[in-house]
Formats: sequence, structure tokens, C-alpha cells
Amino acid sequence: MGSHTGALAVEIRGAAKRYGGSGGFVAVDHVDLAVRAGRVHGLLGPNGAGKTTTLKMLLGLVRPTEGTFSILGEPTGPSVRARVGFLPEQPYFPPLLTAEEVLRLHGRLAGIDSAQIASRGRDLLARVGLEGRGTTRLSKYSRGMLQRVGIAQALIAEPEVVVLDEPASGLDPVGQRDIRNLMLELRDGGVTVLLSSHQLSEVEAVCDEVTILNQGRVSAKGAIDDLLNVAGRTSIRARGASTTLPAEIQALMEDVAVSGSVWVFSVPDTAVRAVVDILDDNGWTIESVVPKRQSLEEYFSHMLETTEGEVA
Ligand code: ADP
Repeated sequence: MGSHTGALAVEIRGAAKRYGGSGGFVAVDHVDLAVRAGRVHGLLGPNGAGKTTTLKMLLGLVRPTEGTFSILGEPTGPSVRARVGFLPEQPYFPPLLTAEEVLRLHGRLAGIDSAQIASRGRDLLARVGLEGRGTTRLSKYSRGMLQRVGIAQALIAEPEVVVLDEPASGLDPVGQRDIRNLMLELRDGGVTVLLSSHQLSEVEAVCDEVTILNQGRVSAKGAIDDLLNVAGRTSIRARGASTTLPAEIQALMEDVAVSGSVWVFSVPDTAVRAVVDILDDNGWTIESVVPKRQSLEEYFSHMLETTEGEVA
């Protein structure tokens, strides 16, 4: 796996999909996407942006209208498909099977011997938080538990590349954290992860790089910090000693959000030192000082404004 370092684990060029033949709906419009081996890459965008269609074309599950797709240096096809794990957006498993049976089935399809399937299966169920639940029928599982089985299923053949379509969907915050940690563990083990999400919070903690899709097109790609950090402003989170902030800070702050005694607001970078001192002198607890990052929604609305501005 180390030999792939620097190489591209996933490469998509000029991917296009028109549903419903010529004159039909263009869901993906000439998308390029590259993921270096051993990275965690986020395919980010609102619902309907074309993420699932792009991933399914990559895996050979949707016929592309145009484009070339390769994984680990090989065009997408049956031989390379065996080295890729996939979590579909809505994983379906026969409800009368148990989680262990699902893993056995997928392991056999991947050509793994039974003893190995059993030991890997046990290990994987523990890693996705289903320890001791392997013999329960899936009809008794919650949505979040099924999502965890889906993730275990994607990993049973020890793939070199893992494609996860909306891995956090159906999971509670603890489940989402478990999956984030699992993705980081995979990366540390040299596995390449490509995940899609419509939520920035899901990708920002794990992705080295993102590709942002909007209405079937790539609207940006790169390191999240470069794309979303707001130049010149810092976000401060402080726990209150009183119900109002000192007046000097009120004069500087923007983007204010209050929850109980916790205040989050942004100030110009140049004022950070002074603001921190004032908070400290007034008995506030400073919980974090980080570069201000815009939300994906803000990012998209700014982009729209910029585009409209250019037209006018
Ligand atoms: P995302 O994963 O970003 O939510 P999708 O790839 O699922 O986006 O969908 C992109 C667009 O293509 C959407 O407008 C969706 O309605 C449309 N679409 C997806 N699948 C089909 C299909 N089988 N037939 C027609 N339109 C589809």
C-alpha cells in the first residue's frame, strides 16, 4: 500500500450523466475528481448536487454518459472493484439475516475463507460499535445500527479504497464520532477514503481535501481551510461570567450566537489579543480561539452573490 503514496487512488475525468436520454436531465456535468492514495477526501454538496451519481459512475453502478473513471490506476471494472469497499446511501440488507450473516455473505462474495471472515467480522462489528449484536436479526436493528452494519460490510474484504456515500446519515452524534474515528484509523492504515456528505461538520474533522459539487458541477476543490476560512476574522467561544459581554467587545463582535452561558462570536484578527484579555479580566472562560470558518450554506450564498455580481 505504501507504494501508492503520491499516486492517485481515484481519478475521475470529465464525468457526465444525463438521466432520461438526450434532452434529459443533466445530473453530473463534466466533473473531475482526484484523490491521492492514503487520503480522506470529501465530496461535499447540497442534496441533489450529483454526489451519489458521481460515486456510482466511479464504481460502475450507473452507466456514465461521458467520462473516464479509474481506481488504483486501473479503469473501473470487475478486477479493481474487488479492492474497493462501498457503503451505498441507503444500504439494504435482508431483514431476516443477522449482521454476522451479512458479513459472511459479503466476505464469501469477495472470496475470503470462512475462518478469516469470522475473525474479521468479529473485529469489524466491534469497531463499528456492534459488539455482541452480531447474532441479532437486522429486522430488530435501528436505522443507525443498520448504517453501522453497512460500514462493516464495506470493510470486510480489507479494501484499499473505501467509498462511503453519506456515512453519517441515520447516526446520532456518538455514532458520527465513531465513524469519523474509524475513517481516521483507516487512513492511518494506508486506506484511501472517499466520502460524500451534505454536511460540512461531517467532513471538516476528517478530510484532508474536499471537492465541492453544486448542481452537477465542481464549484471548488482544495483544502477546507483554504476554501472556507474567512480571511481576517477569528471566532471566539467563551463561557459567560454574566449575561452581557463587556461593551468594548460588543462594539467589535459579529456573527454572535448564544447558547445558555456560552457565547460564540467573531472579531477582527487584530483585536483578538485585546478581546481575550478583556474576557479574562472580567472572569470569562475562553473555550476556543480559532480562525473563523463560514458554513457551507454561507459559502454557497456568497458564491451566488459573487456570480450575480459578475453578471451585473
Ligand atoms: P446527491 O447525491 O448530491 O444528493 P444525486 O446524484 O442523488 O445527488 O442526484 C443528482 C440529481 O439527479 C438529482 O436532481 C436527482 O433527482 C437526479 N437523479 C438521481 N438519480 C436519478 C435517476 N435514476 N433518474 C433521474 N434522475 C435522477
